[in-house]
Order: sequence, then C-alpha cells, then structure tokens
Amino acid sequence: MNRRQRAAGALVGSAVGDALGAPFEFGPEGAFSARFPAGGHGGEMCGGGGWEPGEATDDTQMALHVAASLLERGGLDLPDIFARFRRWAADEPKDIGLQTEDVLTSGMPWDRAARAHFEVNLRAAGNGSLMRATTAALYFAPAGQAATLDAARRIAALTHGDPAAWEGTAVFHELLRLALDGADPLAALPRVLPLVHPEHRARYAVVLAPSWHPDDATEFNGAVWPCLGSAVWALRTTASFEDALRAAVDLGGDTDTVAAVTGALAGARYGLGAIPARWTGPLHVPLPGAGEKECVVRVAGLVEIAGRLDAGNRPPR
Ligand SMILES: [Mg+2]
Repeated sequence: MNRRQRAAGALVGSAVGDALGAPFEFGPEGAFSARFPAGGHGGEMCGGGGWEPGEATDDTQMALHVAASLLERGGLDLPDIFARFRRWAADEPKDIGLQTEDVLTSGMPWDRAARAHFEVNLRAAGNGSLMRATTAALYFAPAGQAATLDAARRIAALTHGDPAAWEGTAVFHELLRLALDGADPLAALPRVLPLVHPEHRARYAVVLAPSWHPDDATEFNGAVWPCLGSAVWALRTTASFEDALRAAVDLGGDTDTVAAVTGALAGARYGLGAIPARWTGPLHVPLPGAGEKECVVRVAGLVEIAGRLDAGNRPPR
C-alpha cells in the first residue's frame, strides 16, 4: 500500500467515524451493536439526533478549516487558523464543543483566549483539539517528528489552554506520522510515550497501556485521555477498519469524536481501500464559515485534500 492511500484513508476514515458516531453521541455503551449486530450488512450510516445519514460534524469541519489554512498560507499561521475557527463558530455550526465555543466567542486575541479560559476554569482537557488534528498531522508528518509535535501542541493551544490536551494531540500526530510511514503505531507506543511532557506522561502511560480498557476510564470519554486511549484500544483489539469503528462507536458517550480519532488511525493503518463504500457513499461535510456559497465536501474532495496535505510540506530536495 502506498503512502497516498494511507493519507487518504486517515482523512476519509476520520470523517467516516465522525458521521458514523454522530447519531449515537451521548448514548449508552452497546447501542450501536444492539442496532447493527453484525458487520458488513449496511444501514449503519443511519443519521439521527439532528444529523443526516453520512453527515460529518464539528470534528471534521474544524479539521477542514485547518487544512485550508495550511494549504493557502503555505505553513503554520496560527492567527489565520484562529480567525477561520471564529468565522466557523459565528456561522452557526450544528454542533460546537462547549470549551471551544467559550474560547472562540470570548472576543479575546488568538494568543490569549484559550489561556484565559483555562486560568478561570482550570479544567480544559476536553478532546476538542484531538478531534480535529488529522489534517495537521498529515501536513506536518513529512517534516519529521519535531515539526509534528510542535505543530500539534501549538494548534491545540488555540482553543485548549490545558497542556494535557496539547500532549494527547501530540501523541496522536506522532502515531499518525508513524502509520503513514508504514510502521505499526501500536508497536511504537513505548517509543512515543517518552515524547510526552514529563508532567503528563504517567497519565498517558495508563490509558495507552495494552492492558487498559475503556471501562477503566476515570473520566467521561469527552476528555482527552480516555478518548485517545479508547481509539488506540479500538485499533488494538480489532483486525479491520470496519471492526475498529464498530468498537469505537459501541463505547457510547462522545461517539463521533472517539470514532473520528479511531478512524484516522485505522484509515492510515488499513488504507482508503479498506473503508466500506457504503460508508463513504453518503459521507458529506457541510462547512460553515467557508464563504458566501454553501460548501459541502464529499469523499472525492477529502481524498484530494489529503493528497495536497501529504505533498504540501516536503523539504526541498
Ligand atoms: Mg462532533
């Protein structure tokens, strides 16, 4: 499998997970498998809870705004990403995370808003910076590990003042970078954990351990630690893209985001060709904040964006 198929698999896989999980958000564990007892049958892109079948949510919408900024600005322009997020938040997306909304609508400048929110609330380790990280991970992967980790932390910090969220996002970026290179991200975990800031390493070591199960989580999976841990668990305990996503959505809770994170990792591991066509067919990403005209991105558009991200940041030869 070539790198381009893995890159496309990561972005399409993330969007598919987002759309697959959205109707089950805040539902109980086991709701997905109760409705769809066996894989491979169809109908799973069912819509509901205000979502059309195949409709992706804020996770993918924010990821595509990051992609547009990176590609149009030719690199990391943090004020530009923040401005795009604000335009998106002001254009009435169907869903937006509480913490993200607080930060984007505070009226404070890009380099102060998230920190100010954290100083007041003290808890700001939601999974909202992790959920949108796939596009930046694709873009910075060819530039290497240091650039990958730095970009992950800085983009996360635009909306999340808690360094715990930065570290989880950095781990995700690095796992995706390794998977795009064809490595096994699970086997690489012992080498990735030491990259986490010492203050946060022990907590990530717990949720990323081979023996950890999502039932062991000490927080709701809308927090960054169990969200990342659950995605890695879903990848570890299954052997196909479809089964990994089924396991992720079946956990209940913040299903769209857990499945979006799982879908990125599984898509990079198994490639675009492993994602069921019956899931990519109805997939569509409405994009508030993209401009005057109504904008909806479908699978062909996602594949094209993934290719441009993968090609766009290579060091000159
Ligand atoms: Mg969402």
